[in-house]
Amino acid sequence: MISYEEARRLVMEQAKIIGREKVSLENASGRVAAEEIRSKIQVPPFRNSAVDGYAVRSEDTKAENFPARLKLLAEQPAGEYFRKVLKPGQAVKVMTGAPVPAGADAVVPVEEAKEQNGFVSVSRAFRPGENVREAGEDLAAGQVIIRPGIVLKAPHLGLLAACGAARIIVYKRPRVAALITGNELCKPGERLRPGKIYDANSTILRALVESSGAELVSIKQVKDDLDALVRALKAAMKRADVVLTSGGVSVGDYDLVKEAARKLGAREIFWQVAQKPAKPLAFYRAKAGRRPAWIFGLPGNPGAVMISFEEYVRPFIKKLSGRRDFWPREIEAVLTSAVKKKRGRLNFIRVRLEETQGVWKAFPADRQESGIISTLTETDGLALVPAEADFLPEGTKVKVHPVEW
Ligand code: AMP
Ligand code: MG
Repeated sequence: MISYEEARRLVMEQAKIIGREKVSLENASGRVAAEEIRSKIQVPPFRNSAVDGYAVRSEDTKAENFPARLKLLAEQPAGEYFRKVLKPGQAVKVMTGAPVPAGADAVVPVEEAKEQNGFVSVSRAFRPGENVREAGEDLAAGQVIIRPGIVLKAPHLGLLAACGAARIIVYKRPRVAALITGNELCKPGERLRPGKIYDANSTILRALVESSGAELVSIKQVKDDLDALVRALKAAMKRADVVLTSGGVSVGDYDLVKEAARKLGAREIFWQVAQKPAKPLAFYRAKAGRRPAWIFGLPGNPGAVMISFEEYVRPFIKKLSGRRDFWPREIEAVLTSAVKKKRGRLNFIRVRLEETQGVWKAFPADRQESGIISTLTETDGLALVPAEADFLPEGTKVKVHPVEW
C-alpha cells in the first residue's frame, strides 16, 4: 500500500495540458487563460472628467480672482469630443467620463459651482489635475493584463473588455464522465424498495465536477456486472479524458471496477492508499484511441468519494486545465478536541473552521466514518492526521485543507 504523499505525486505527475482553444469573452468565464495578453490601448484612452462639473483652467480659480467668474463656452456630454481649446476665463460643462478639453486642467464639481446667465462662478482654488482622470492612468498601452494559468473571473474579463479584447486563448476543459456502480442503488424520486438505498454519489459527483471547472459529459448508473461495466467504461473513455467510477473498487465479491479496467488494457498506477477514508482508491492510465484517458476508481461511500475528490481529483483536474494553483490550499489550525486513531494510515478528519485574530480553530465533526453523509455539510476542511500518530490531544496544531466543494 502506498502513502498519501506518493499517491498524490503519482496522480499529479500524470496531469498534462489537454489543448488550447480561442473563445469569445462571453464564453470565457471560469476558463483558464493560455496566453499572455497586453493591452493594445491605454486606459482610459483620453483625459476625462471624474465628476459632473465644469472643466476649467486651474489658474483661473486662484484666490485673487474670487469668486472666479468664467464664461460657459459649451456643454460636453460623455461620448463626444470638443475640438476647441479652452482660453483664459472660459469653462466647458462636462459630464463624468466626458473628455476634458485641451487647455483645461481641472474640473469643478457641479456641487461647488454656480451657473447663471452663461457664466459659472467658483469660490475656491482648484489644483491642476483635480477631478481629471489622465489618459493611461489605469493601464499603459502594452501593459500585461493577463498571464497564462489564471482563472478568468469578472475582474479579468472586465479588464480584457476595457482594453477592447474580444477573444482569448484558453486551455481546453477536461471532459469528465462518471460511472456509478451498485446493484443496491435506486434514483432519488423513485420508491425505495427493500434492500435498496438512494444513489447519492451521482448527485455529489455532478456538483463536484461542475465546481472543478471540468466539463461533465456523462453520468451513468451501472450494475455490478463485469460485461456491463466493461461496456460502460469503454464508452466513457471514448467521450472523456477523466473517468470517475464510484464503488466496486474494494475487495468484495462484486467489486469489479479493477477487473473491468484491466480488461480494457488500462495500466494500474496504484490501488489502495494508506489513508482513511478512501483506502481502496485506484488510479489508471488508459488509451482512448491516440490520446490518454485516466480512470479514478473512487470508493462507494459518499464521504470517501468527496474526500478523495478534494485530495486527488480536483487538483488533477485543475492541473489538466492549465491552472498553476492546483494544490489544495493548506492552513494550520488548532484542534479543539482530541483525535484518536489507529497507527498506519493518514486520516482525513472533517472539521469546521473558525478564525479568531489570525488563529484557526478546527472543530472535529463527531462522526467521521466514510458512510456518514450528515456531517459533510458542516465540513469546512480536512485535517490531515499523520499515519504514525495514534492520539492528538486537544490543542494540537494540524494541517488543514479547506474544502472547495
Ligand atoms: P462498495 O465499495 O461498492 O462496496 O460501496 C461501499 C459502500 O458505499 C456501500 O455501503 C454502498 O452501498 C455505498 N454506496 C455505493 N455507491 C453509493 C452511492 N452511489 N450512493 C450512496 N451510497 C453508495
Ligand atoms: Mg458496490
